[in-house]
Amino acid sequence: MFSKSIIKELTHIVGKDNIRIDKEDLICYSYDATNQKFLPDAVVFPQNASEISLILRMANNEGFSVVPRGAGSGFSGGSLPVEGGVVVSLERMNKILRIDTDNLIAEVEPGVVTGEFQWAVEDLGLFYPPDPSSLKFCTIGGNVAECAGGPRAVKYGVTKDYVLGLEIVLPTGEIINTGAQTLKGVVGYDLTRLMVGSEGTLGIVTKIILKLLPLPEATKTMLAVFSDMRDAAAAVSRIISSKIIPSTLEFMDKNSISCVDDYVSMGLPADVEALLLIEVDGVKELVENQAETIKKICLDNRAKEVRIAGDKKEVKKLWQIRRAISPALAKLKPNKINEDIVVPRSKIPDAIIGVREIAKKYNLTNANFGHAGDGNIHVNIMIDKSDKAESERAEKAVKEIFELILGLGGTISGEHGIGISKMPYIGMELSQSAIDAMKKIKQVLDPKGVLNPGKIFPRS
Ligand SMILES: Cc1cc2nc3c(=O)[nH]c(=O)nc-3n(C[C@H](O)[C@H](O)[C@H](O)COP(=O)(O)OP(=O)(O)OC[C@H]3O[C@@H](n4cnc5c(N)ncnc54)[C@H](O)[C@@H]3O)c2cc1C
Repeated sequence: MFSKSIIKELTHIVGKDNIRIDKEDLICYSYDATNQKFLPDAVVFPQNASEISLILRMANNEGFSVVPRGAGSGFSGGSLPVEGGVVVSLERMNKILRIDTDNLIAEVEPGVVTGEFQWAVEDLGLFYPPDPSSLKFCTIGGNVAECAGGPRAVKYGVTKDYVLGLEIVLPTGEIINTGAQTLKGVVGYDLTRLMVGSEGTLGIVTKIILKLLPLPEATKTMLAVFSDMRDAAAAVSRIISSKIIPSTLEFMDKNSISCVDDYVSMGLPADVEALLLIEVDGVKELVENQAETIKKICLDNRAKEVRIAGDKKEVKKLWQIRRAISPALAKLKPNKINEDIVVPRSKIPDAIIGVREIAKKYNLTNANFGHAGDGNIHVNIMIDKSDKAESERAEKAVKEIFELILGLGGTISGEHGIGISKMPYIGMELSQSAIDAMKKIKQVLDPKGVLNPGKIFPRS
């Protein structure tokens, strides 16, 4: 628990209306999407970089931890105050500062909700592609810290591809600007890239300069179902090799499909093993042609059915299938271990078959879906945490799944980050020398280890 003098000083920095210390308030900031809970000693709601700077300077003097938090939608525990201390909630810093339609850039505060920003730029005929499925509630600051991706990453890349510059408060309290407001800029080390994806361990992001694109003129959405997963994978490869890069190329396996079918009736044919949700965007005429080509490719690869949405209502219906997965899976078991592995696209069938074998070996329920276009598959092991034996089996299965994925030339996390969830496994992918180099960077920027401690690297 914080001393009265620490509370007094924090109150002095942020104002009495912008600090919480009562347990019922602290509980609201003690968890994220991993459903793990760690109670902070205080939560503060600063309104600018200067206040955050004072908080971090104080943390260095007094020796307490500071944990930045956006919307708490992270899947790896990054915003959890595992060592107590103060949670810095960025929710009051939620302004879109400017949208520059001449230079196609925008400047935002970190607490801006991603979806709200997307809709604001779309109103001006512009486009901000990164679209994590949590976009209705997650924040741009959290996206930057996790380098969030989403269905559109296959064509448009991930958050790091849109961040031109940042204002950051370093763990020792200095406020710095990285990058530039221009598309090019190579002055000094690329600290922007270092910060994006650093999971709130190297600095607190207080302003973000983002690159925008013109809004595509048209989109076409379609659904293809297959009775053999390898046919679906072959269709994915053929689409890409025919030089069409869809803006979305999502995959669902049999278990995900049957869960969703019970949840939102899709009226799919029987014996469906795999489903692809595909979207193309661009100039209207090109989009029409690409949709027809993709339909042909799917049918040539033995798709049982291909549906092309004719209007906005049908588009919404097709997306509902993809968006219903998370709530639909919850009916299988109360808890979900959600791994966001990535493999080379051609290895998706091997990865899924291998994952299913591991799940079977450990008698676990498993469902897989995700971004087939970039090989990023969400592997879900459904468990009941109150069943200790099942949880232990799941832990063993996860390790074997990571071995499988690394053996296929993949990576253990495509977009959710390491946080605390994947911390025990980081050494399976990175060499000790690489981990030591990263720890040295952390040590130089945060010598007292006050910013988001206990994340990414297991204690030696
Ligand atoms: C239903 C659902 C669907 C999802 N779909 C996707 C998806 O498609 N793609 C994807 O990539 N992720 C997805 N996620 C995961 C999650 O939404 C993203 O990781 C998102 O970027 C987290 O944003 P947040 O604002 O909730 O951050 P939080 O969870 O609050 O924090 C995440 C990390 O960022 C740090 N952080 C937050 N703000 C700052 C800041 N201003 N400065 C420095 N560090 C900061 C925190 O300390 C923490 O380490 C999904 C989550 C859910 C629940």
